[in-house]
Formats: sequence, C-alpha cells, structure tokens
Amino acid sequence: MAEYDVDLFVIGAGSGGVRAARIAGGYGAKVMVAEEFRIGGTCVIRGCVPKKLYAYASRFADDFEDAKGFGWSFPEKPTFDWHKLVQAKETEISRLSSLYRKGVEGSGGVMVQSRAEVVDAHTVRLMHEGRNVTAKYILVATGGSPTLVPPIPGMEHAISSNEVFDLKEFPRRLLIVGGGYIAVEFASVFARLGAKVTLAMRAENVLRGFDEDMRNGLRDGLEHAGIHFRFCALPAKIEKLSHGLDVTFTDGSTGDYDQVLVATGRHPHTHGLGLEKAGVELNRSGAVKVDGYSRTNIPSIYAVGDVTHRLNLTPVAVREGHAFADNVFGGKDINVDRDDVATAVFSTPEIGTVGLTETQAREIFDVVDIYRANFRPLKSTLSGRQDRTIMKLVVDGTSDRVLGAHILGHDAGEMAQLLGVAVKMRATKADFDATMAVHPTAAEELVTMR
Ligand code: NDP
Repeated sequence: MAEYDVDLFVIGAGSGGVRAARIAGGYGAKVMVAEEFRIGGTCVIRGCVPKKLYAYASRFADDFEDAKGFGWSFPEKPTFDWHKLVQAKETEISRLSSLYRKGVEGSGGVMVQSRAEVVDAHTVRLMHEGRNVTAKYILVATGGSPTLVPPIPGMEHAISSNEVFDLKEFPRRLLIVGGGYIAVEFASVFARLGAKVTLAMRAENVLRGFDEDMRNGLRDGLEHAGIHFRFCALPAKIEKLSHGLDVTFTDGSTGDYDQVLVATGRHPHTHGLGLEKAGVELNRSGAVKVDGYSRTNIPSIYAVGDVTHRLNLTPVAVREGHAFADNVFGGKDINVDRDDVATAVFSTPEIGTVGLTETQAREIFDVVDIYRANFRPLKSTLSGRQDRTIMKLVVDGTSDRVLGAHILGHDAGEMAQLLGVAVKMRATKADFDATMAVHPTAAEELVTMR
C-alpha cells in the first residue's frame, strides 16, 4: 500500500497551483487540488482577465469619438449596458474556469471543491468533506486577498476589486482609494464607461515605484479623461445615507458617491490555513517564507505565487508552479529568475515597462544616459485626440546596456513583452540603433531615439 494517499496536494486552484498540478501529473504524480472559491484563482475570476475585458469595453468610448475624424458618423449616440458586459464577462470566465479544471483532470489529477487546511507536514484536511488526505508533498498556492486600509468608521460600506466586477448597478459616482495598479486601472475603466470618478490617495502621484515620466504621463492622461484627483487625502469616515455613501476626507472635505472602491494593496492568504500549527514559517508580511526553489522550512511543504509575496504577478506564479513540479517530480534544478520581468498596467493610457527606472539606475550606476520620445500618435492626427505617447530608455553610459525601457500609450503592454526579450538578452543601445524601424508604428521610436 502507498505510504500517502497522493504524491502532491495543492491548496488553491489559481494560476500557480493549477500549473504545478498539471506538470506534476504529467510526470506521473498522483495529484489532488482543493479550491474553496472558483477554479482559476484571482487572475481568471476577479483579476487580470475580467479587468482586461472591462478595459477593452471602456476603450470603445474613445473609438466611437475617434471614428468621427475618419469619416464615420453615428445616427444615434452609442449607449452602454453594464449588465450585458457583466454577463458576457461571466460567460468567458466560466469557460476559462472549466478549462482549468479540464487541465488538471486531463493530467490525471483530482479537483475537489472545498476549503483545505494543513494539519501537519503530510496531512491536509478537506473542510467541506470533513476528511483528511495524506500527501508526500503539499503545495500552498492560496494567493492573496485585498487589504482594506486605513481602518476607518464605515469601511464595511466600501468594496474591493473582488466585488467591483459584479456590481448590481453601474456606479455613476465612484470614489477609488489608492494609487496603485488596481486603482488606476479601474479609474480608467469606469471613467470611460460613463462614471464620475474620484481617485484619492495618500501620495502626491500615482504608481509609486514606476518611472517618474510614466507616473506624470499617466496622471496627465487620467486627468484628461476627466478623473478627479485627491492627492494626500484619504477617507476618514464613510456613512451610508439614503442617496448613497457620504465620505468625509482627512482634510475635512466631504463627497457623495454610489460606491467606494478601496484598492490599497493585497496581502498573502495564509490566515487560518493551519500553517503555523504545521510549523511553517511566515515572514513579517504574513507571507509563506520560501527559498529560491519555493521550499518552506518544512521539507514536504512548498509555496508558490502571491502567498509568498515575492513578485505578485500571474506569469511569475505560473513559472514558480512549473519550476516546483519540474524540480520535485521531474528531477530538474530550476531556480526561477525574477530579474527584468516585463509588466503592464492596463490603465488608459497603458503602461508597459521592463527593467530599472531612471531613479533606480542612478542609484546603482555611475553614468546613466536617458533617451526620451514624447509624441502624438499618428491616429490622433485625424481623430483630434490630445493624447501623447511617451517612451524612455534608461542606458548604462559605461557599457551601453539598456537597463530599463518604459512606454506609456497604446499597446504599451504588447511592446513591453518584446522589449523584455531585448533587455533580458542584455541588448545595448547600439543594438537598438542597429535595428531597422517598422514604419509607420509607434514602436519604431524605440530604435530611432538619439
Ligand atoms: P499596489 O501595491 O499597486 O498599490 C497600493 C496602493 O495603496 C498604493 O497607492 C499605496 O500607496 C496605497 N496604500 C497602501 N497602504 C496604504 C495605507 N495604509 N493607507 C493608504 N493607502 C495605502 O496595490 P493594488 O491593490 O493596486 O494591487 C495589488 C497587486 O496586484 C499589485 O501590487 C500587483 O502586484 C497586482 N496587480 C497587477 C496588475 C497588473 O499586472 N496589471 C493589475 C492589478 C494588480 P503608496 O503609493 O503611498 O504606497
């Protein structure tokens, strides 16, 4: 008889957990995956995927306007139906969720719809079914949850990104708290869908940690879209009244809103998982402490993705889950490389970025050369839109290596993916210059900056 019920028990069917389960199954491991919510995790169910769908929906507003400059006219003003969008999104994420399930089951794994908690180094309890399962290895891939701060009276009336996708009514007046990824993305979406959006944050600008030119360009772009900023101001109190939510800010001013969306970061989902009981060490942020191989201090327990709070991005979690399965069940030796990870913010305007910001580069390198392009996209000449595209290369003046590349504008995320290859390959500015332009594109500016 086998020593354990399964070779691998994965807690959490998100991007990292499902990838690990599928790859481990492919190596012949007996795998069980438990998920307490919906299969697919944050990215598929209430993160990246629906967010991008909503960003597409919102950008039609600009397209309808811009089309007029190209000879189009509309007999009637286009109208938007929030409920239709929510329903269409639901159909798509349900399809993806079932593909995730099929992926696990197709590689021989068993998917269980239940909360699971760690009992000890080799035992997990399925809370829904009230039974224990023993496993040679346990993988914690439970992701993260929104953090609603600061703790103020009335915070229970606010929502997080978990709820925003499925609001029963479209919020005509929306207050968004925070200035990070989620805040600027939803501000862009709701403003274009017709809401009056206010963005309140403790800082003086959006997206702390991003390159300053991108931050300033995005702030200007959001302002241009009619988003009202409240810098260095946070809600101090939220009251529910008959006409909506009455918010008092830290500076004493007040405002009325239909919804308050709080996007002040996310924390690792480790609470109540039984990890402390099993002796698994957590770090100060409550994340599972792991080494480069995603190993915890307990040899049979591993963790990947946002629950480890390393680089909270879906592709990183996927890579970590894959590497875990390759190492443990495939006899490989892969330490995931998290340097120069390209990423995008799907605000409008969009940001695509890879490598060091100018500020970071100046802290490390003696001579830093900066190349900038700031131009009006070709499409805007006929549409009359006043948007700008900003591109920036951060170069080590000594070796000529491109240390960072940053783009604000249409398709910045698409461009960032390819720039990621160049930066990862340690391309120099001379390599960029030697590359022939693709004309007429916005991306050609990247190889023509002098
Ligand atoms: P971020 O870390 O991006 O931003 C958090 C925001 O909340 C910042 O503006 C921060 O302010 C503010 N904040 C933090 N603590 C407090 C506090 N105590 N009081 C007031 N304000 C506070 O988090 P998000 O919630 O936007 O997103 C969570 C994570 O999800 C991201 O870090 C990212 O990893 C991931 N994500 C990725 C996306 C993508 O790849 N496109 C999209 C969405 C999310 P300050 O700047 O002053 O610190």
